[in-house]
Amino acid sequence: MKVPFVDLKAQYLSIQPEIDRAIADVIADTAFISGSYAKKFEDEFSAYNGMKHCISCANGTDSLEILLKAMNIGSGDEVIVPAISWISTAEAVSSVGAKPVFADVNEHLLIDPVQAEKNITTNTKCIIPVHLYGNPSDMSVLMEIAGNHGLKVLEDCAQSHGAELGGKRTGTFGHCASFSFYPGKNLGAYGDAGAMMTNDDDIARLSRAIANHGQEGKHNHIMEGRNSRMDGIQAAILSAKLPHLDDWTNQRILIAEKYNKQIVSGKVVKPIVRENARHVFHLYVIRVPDRSAFMRYCSEKGIETAIHYPTPLPLLPCYADQRLMPADFPVAAKASAEIVSLPMYPEMTDKQINFVAEHVNEFFS
Ligand SMILES: *Cc1c(COP(=O)(O)O)cnc(C)c1O
Repeated sequence: MKVPFVDLKAQYLSIQPEIDRAIADVIADTAFISGSYAKKFEDEFSAYNGMKHCISCANGTDSLEILLKAMNIGSGDEVIVPAISWISTAEAVSSVGAKPVFADVNEHLLIDPVQAEKNITTNTKCIIPVHLYGNPSDMSVLMEIAGNHGLKVLEDCAQSHGAELGGKRTGTFGHCASFSFYPGKNLGAYGDAGAMMTNDDDIARLSRAIANHGQEGKHNHIMEGRNSRMDGIQAAILSAKLPHLDDWTNQRILIAEKYNKQIVSGKVVKPIVRENARHVFHLYVIRVPDRSAFMRYCSEKGIETAIHYPTPLPLLPCYADQRLMPADFPVAAKASAEIVSLPMYPEMTDKQINFVAEHVNEFFS
């Protein structure tokens, strides 16, 4: 049996007429860049999250960078990011001229608030918690720390569409939030797309201007900005997909529950879901001994696995100038040698879920 890591084709086939119509409409209207379809999706996505402003842009990395700029963070400033994330989180900080300062993670592989606070200096301006794998970071503690030190909080929600903590959506705790709609994300376009979200009128106004050449109204360039807009086609696809997001998320949660129940080997550490959290399982990540042999075994059986991510950010060659060592991030360093992501997508069949769980159990028996 083949179990792919994700199957975007299966999802397309399940809603094909809606998607095809959405794309055809944009072409008929020649609304290719920003325009009415982007505006419609912005309204729908801000309503979905109960937030005042959603500003669409070209991708999730841009949205992080634009939000940092809109908060006037740049040269000489420090921004605290978790030691485990996709590189965009740190890259965006460097791109605006600030320094990413890495904090170790906790047992959930989410930024450890104690470590975040330890890294605060007089230059610190912002903390970027990442709701990694769809699991909400500890927002109440982080907001308290940020409040005590006068810091901004930018939530990286690239993996956490629809996730909640204490019944409140991720992306609604901080000063602003960044979303990616990369095709494989829980809400994915058919190309690159992203969005900024905030209740703050100033951050919203500046983000919108920066993403569109610094314009506030046509030809009124209040600053130099950049070109980071959402395609009409991507926006229309996202509008077609958004009404399905909650069903897809519930499917992901069900699949995770099945994995959790069926994977019984004592050698496997399964994801922990805290009682007050709605973990939306962008990824289902287990921790195992003997990882490379396990991944080879899965591959032979037709099961695709992946690692998110094999190296903690501070230990990547591009941050060698910070001279950081695994001992500076003991939790992240240990975890990154053990984590492996199992296939996870809403259209997985019970047969596939059973097949994966059986082989996990078999390998570790
Ligand atoms: C995907 C991702 C991003 C970047 O999104 P792009 O749309 O690919 O630029 C940022 N942060 C995290 C945690 C991500 O997973």
